[in-house]
Amino acid sequence: MADVNLLLFIIEAVSYFTLMVTLLHFRHRIGLGMFLTALGVMHFMETYLAAVFYVQLPFGIVSPGSSVFFTGKLMMILMLYLREDAAIVRQPIYGLFIGNLLTVGIAWILQWHVPVELSSGRAPSDAFLKEMGWLMLWGTAILYLDAIGIILLYERLGRYLRHKVVLRFLICGLVLLTFDQIAFFSALHYFLGVPAAAFWGGWKAKMFAVCIYTALFAVYEIWIGRAVVTSGARPIGDIFGDLTFRERYNDLLSRTGRDILTGLYDRTRMEMEAPLMVRESLRQGHFATVIILDADHFKNVNDEFGHLQGDEVLRAIAARLGTILRATDRMFRFGGEEFVAVCPATDHGEALRLAERLRWTIESSVATPDGKPVTISLGVATVGDDGDGFAALLSAADQRLYQAKKNGRNCVVGRAGVRDRGE
Ligand code: GH3
Ligand code: MG
Ligand code: MG
Repeated sequence: MADVNLLLFIIEAVSYFTLMVTLLHFRHRIGLGMFLTALGVMHFMETYLAAVFYVQLPFGIVSPGSSVFFTGKLMMILMLYLREDAAIVRQPIYGLFIGNLLTVGIAWILQWHVPVELSSGRAPSDAFLKEMGWLMLWGTAILYLDAIGIILLYERLGRYLRHKVVLRFLICGLVLLTFDQIAFFSALHYFLGVPAAAFWGGWKAKMFAVCIYTALFAVYEIWIGRAVVTSGARPIGDIFGDLTFRERYNDLLSRTGRDILTGLYDRTRMEMEAPLMVRESLRQGHFATVIILDADHFKNVNDEFGHLQGDEVLRAIAARLGTILRATDRMFRFGGEEFVAVCPATDHGEALRLAERLRWTIESSVATPDGKPVTISLGVATVGDDGDGFAALLSAADQRLYQAKKNGRNCVVGRAGVRDRGE
C-alpha cells in the first residue's frame, strides 16, 4: 500500500511542477496572473489536506498537502524570483494574506446565516471554514518568512556556488522546508491535535519532494528554460484578447483627433468635421456660424512666466470655452492659441451674443499666474452674406479677428463691425 502511495506522491509532485512551471514559462504570452492564480487556488487545497488528509508512505505518515503542495509552492516562489524579482514575489504572498483574512472574516459573517438543509446530507461547517482560514493565515505568515529566507539564502549561496544554480536550489529547499516543518507542524499539533509521529514523516516527505522538484528544476533549467527565449513573444489570442483589443481600440478612437494639451478636437478633426457640420445645418434650412478666437498678447505670457505656465493658461482657456458652448456647438484647437467654434443652427445675432459671452467668460475667469486677466479677440462669420461653406466662413471670420486685434483686442467683430466689450 505504501508503494502505491509513494507512486501517487511522485505523480502528484510531477504534475504540480509541470503545470506550474508551464504557466511560469509562458507568462509573457498568457500573463503572470495565471501562474499566480493557480498558486492561490492550490493554497486552499494544501491547507485543507494538511489538516485532514494523511497517507502511509515508506518513511512515515504524510500529508500530500504539506509535503507535495506546500513544498511545491515555496519552490515555485523561488522560481518566480529567479525569473522575475522580489517585487513580483511579494504579490502572491500579500495576496494570500489578504485572501486568508477575508476567508476568516467571511466565515465569521456566514455563521449568522440560517442555512437550508439540502438532501445531500452534507452539513456546512463555518467552524471548519474559520479553522481553515486561521490555519491558512498561519501558513501564509510562515510562507512570508520562508519566502524571504529562501531568497536571501539563494543569494547568499551565490557567493560560494555562483554557477551551481541547481545545487543552490536544492540546499535552499532543504533548509527552508525544515524550518517550515517545525513552524507549521507546531500549529497542526497544538491546534488540530496532529500526532507528533507525523512530524518526522512530514519532514522526510518534504525533503523527498524537494529532491523531486530539484531534479525537475534541473531538467527545466538545462533543457527548456535556457533554450527558449520567451520575452517579446506575442501574447496568445483568445476571446479575452479580443475584449482587451476592443477596449483599447475604443480608447484610441476617443483620443484620435484630440489635441493633447487642451483635450479639444484638433485641426485635422476640424478639417474633416466642420465642413460637414456647416453643410448639414444648411441642408436642414438653418444658419451656421463660425467663430475664430485668439488669445491676446499670448507671447507675453510665455515670456513672463515660461512656456509651461503658458500651457496651463491655454488649458484654462480651453476648459472655460467648453463650459459656454452648447451641446450642438463644437470647439477645435486651430493652432497655437487660436480656437475655432462651429455653431450649427445659429444666426449672426445669436452668434455675436455667444461670442460676447465667450469673451467675457475668459476675461473674468482666466488669469495669468500674477492675477492679470487673460483676454481673447474674436471674429464671427455666418452663412449668407459671409459665404456658404466652412472655408469661406473661416476666412471671413479670420479677417474680422484681425480687425478685432487692430481695434485694441479683447473684443468681438462681426458683420456690422466692432461690438466692443459688452456692447
Ligand atoms: P496677439 O495675438 O494679441 O496679436 O499677440 P500674441 O502674443 O498672442 O501673438 P501671436 O498670436 O502671434 O503669438 C502666439 C503665441 O502663442 C506664440 C507662441 O509663443 C504662443 N503659443 C502658441 N502655441 C502655444 C502652446 O501650445 N503653448 C504655449 N505656452 N504657447 C503657445
Ligand atoms: Mg494671440
Ligand atoms: Mg495667434
